[in-house]
Amino acid sequence: MSLTNAQYDAIMRRYEARQIQNRHTTAQRLKEAYSRSPRLKELEDAIASTAVSRAKLMLDGDEEALPRLKGELATLMEEKARLLAELGYPADYFEPPYTCSDCKDTGYIGAEKCHCFKQAAIDLVYTQSNLKGILAEENFDTFSFDYYSREADPAMGGRSPYQAAADAVAQCKTFIQEFDSSFHNLLIYGDTGVGKTFLSNCVARELLDSGHSVIYFTAAQLFAVLEKTTFRRDKGGEQSGDYQNLFDCDLLIIDDLGTEFSNSFTTSQLFLCLNERLLRRKSTIISTNLNIPQLAELYSERTFSRVTSNYTMIKLIGSDIRILKKINGAANG
Ligand SMILES: [Zn+2]
Repeated sequence: MSLTNAQYDAIMRRYEARQIQNRHTTAQRLKEAYSRSPRLKELEDAIASTAVSRAKLMLDGDEEALPRLKGELATLMEEKARLLAELGYPADYFEPPYTCSDCKDTGYIGAEKCHCFKQAAIDLVYTQSNLKGILAEENFDTFSFDYYSREADPAMGGRSPYQAAADAVAQCKTFIQEFDSSFHNLLIYGDTGVGKTFLSNCVARELLDSGHSVIYFTAAQLFAVLEKTTFRRDKGGEQSGDYQNLFDCDLLIIDDLGTEFSNSFTTSQLFLCLNERLLRRKSTIISTNLNIPQLAELYSERTFSRVTSNYTMIKLIGSDIRILKKINGAANG
């Protein structure tokens, strides 16, 4: 991950701010709960001092007194849990409200950067913060099958748009479930407005929520990046800096492939990038309005078949959802 010092400091300052906020929230909760139940304060103090005594005995090697203290501690904890429940507090009410419980909002797990740090770096470098706003709206909870007709489509061998959408959602959910155990890529294709971007956003949201790093690019944005940076393997086999994220992120989404202005240079860069991700077994989702023969024509048969043989093809059909939404909006308003 190629961050400048200023970018690194900006991320670390956010973690510090979160930690301060956590301590503040915890202190407030303790104060409020103690004022409602002074016994809770006595218990917390007793638990703390018993824990200290226990640690001391362990250091002294005094084995005999240990079981007694262990029993005392358990009794105190039980009473505390009971009291918290009586007061209507959750059991972890005095735990800091971590944004990321894996690293306790420090950004690190041991000496390793936490997944949340990696995503924060991606967000910063690629200004992906707009993605979060979109994902709040476009996810599996808001995905609606209502826009897909149940009428059989002869061009699809009698399948209906609804069936195609149901299959697509099922395939995407399998992709998510198996994400950590087996390597898959998706190519989602179909006409404008049949929900391709929405579907890839659903996947992005689930994977971000489970702590994976995701980069989202429209093809045009990606090609702009590719144009600026030349992919090359240096003598030592290292890649130049900016490419690291494109190769290393857990999921790369390329939206609307085929609409960008491309030339032979950027096209070759694109396929080097996709190929490198294949070699590293890092997943990619591509969405496109073009069909497979059109893609092969645009990007050359040979390179494209190399990619498609490693992708699961998902076809969506139906009417333009954006238009349907407008019609519905007008009817309801
Ligand atoms: Zn974390």
